[in-house]
Amino acid sequence: MIVVMKKGATKEQIEHMIMRVEQLGLKSHPIYGTERTVIAAIGEKRDEFRQSLESGAGVAEVVPILAPYKVASLEVKPEPTVVRIGSLAVGNCHLGMIAGPCSVENEQQMLSTARAVKAAGATALRGGAFKPRTSPYSFQGLKEDGLKILAAARDETGLAVVTEVVAAVDVELVAGYADVLQIGARNMQNYRLLEAAGKEGKPVLLKRGPSASMDELLLAAEYILNAGNPNVMLCERGIRTFETHTRFSLTLASVPYLHERTHLPVVVDPSHGTGHTVLVPRMAAAAVAAGADGLIVEVHPDPETALSDGYQSLTFAQFEEMMTLCRKVAEAVGKRIVPNEES
Ligand code: PEP
Ligand code: MN
Repeated sequence: MIVVMKKGATKEQIEHMIMRVEQLGLKSHPIYGTERTVIAAIGEKRDEFRQSLESGAGVAEVVPILAPYKVASLEVKPEPTVVRIGSLAVGNCHLGMIAGPCSVENEQQMLSTARAVKAAGATALRGGAFKPRTSPYSFQGLKEDGLKILAAARDETGLAVVTEVVAAVDVELVAGYADVLQIGARNMQNYRLLEAAGKEGKPVLLKRGPSASMDELLLAAEYILNAGNPNVMLCERGIRTFETHTRFSLTLASVPYLHERTHLPVVVDPSHGTGHTVLVPRMAAAAVAAGADGLIVEVHPDPETALSDGYQSLTFAQFEEMMTLCRKVAEAVGKRIVPNEES
């Protein structure tokens, strides 16, 4: 349930209610809005305590949260969440642009990509050092050596680094180098990993599982939020359907749908979502038109020789063109693609 404080409730009254919620054995998530503060009270026996909390000083009302996900819901926080880290701002009027290769392959590949995507207007750098591959015989990533290359690319370009963590035991190591922890589609329901990323505290980009429903995605995000990390970005990257012409089916309706239900920003991945370079720029623009708060796009200096996902990667020139198109659409829908520091 949500304890809605009155407008003008004092700091002491808010702190007192947080303490009351905790004393009742519930977990408190205070959200300090511009208008008023609400305290989400999460726990199994919450409804029994409604009346006793309602009598607290400074409390306007106590209302149940109807959605199965709680902290992620718009009921708890009607204002959009903006995730900011280094050069990246995602949410509300800020359109984050994350670009880079599928995998970190070597320093030259990563540095040249970082320079090119930055020059074209990207606001963060992607690159997988730990790769979740369908086959154990495929390139598995450079692991810590890859993380070091990503950190060097950030040092040179100032771009925030987004990189995947595939196991809970690696969270500390990856967080030591990354700005954003990416949790991949295959791990969306790896609950121990979600909790570990939640506890670590760095912003998380949570990708939708190819067979996960929207509620399952939101409940997966709830694990991270419930572990104390409010900086979660959801990512639509396509789902599996009967269609075989595209790698996945990129369901862009999920963008406005999620915005109707959650304050968390929604990022779209048109690279994995389509699986074909030629489809990426227009689906990127369509995602922006649908209200996406960010894009994550694969870019490679020479897609033909990429160690993974070359067939869906853009060249530098194609990325630049995509940016020109996306900027026009962004302007039409009231979003800006600018680095965090300038926003
Ligand atoms: C990726 O972005 O590198 C990736 C592996 O994507 P997904 O988890 O969506 O398959
Ligand atoms: Mn990839």
